[in-house]
Amino acid sequence: MSTRWFPDQMPMPAANAETLGWWEAAAGHRLVVQRCSDCGRTRHPPGPLCPACRSGAAAWDELAGTGVVYTYTVVRQAFLPALADRLPYVVAAIELDGAGGARMVSNVVDVDPAAVSVGLRVQVVWEDMGPELALPRFRPAPLARGGAQ
Ligand SMILES: [Zn+2]
Repeated sequence: MSTRWFPDQMPMPAANAETLGWWEAAAGHRLVVQRCSDCGRTRHPPGPLCPACRSGAAAWDELAGTGVVYTYTVVRQAFLPALADRLPYVVAAIELDGAGGARMVSNVVDVDPAAVSVGLRVQVVWEDMGPELALPRFRPAPLARGGAQ
């Protein structure tokens, strides 16, 4: 099992026909984005039709798992009792590298919330919530490769 940041009592997401491929990739710790096979536009969360050209043909592009914080908030109130000992935590929209502008909502972990800022470079880390469910979280990316990109 991976590091755990959130408790088992979290409401679990449910896959459907449109999102199953995304969840299967996530279970294997692969971050993917849905790309229209006709016009190339990416979209997240996955959906049945391209919002640009209405095509139903799509494929999954594997991403590097890096990105930047597009916007974020610091949660200081336990909306679920099980989260009381996890406060404060960061909920962020992550703009994913190589995803054509697609963003996903996740958490920034392993960081003092006061150190999070818009534009912070992050990389994915996987949290195994169970044998078939892994969720992508993000942590600050190391600055080793020449600093900010
Ligand atoms: Zn399209």
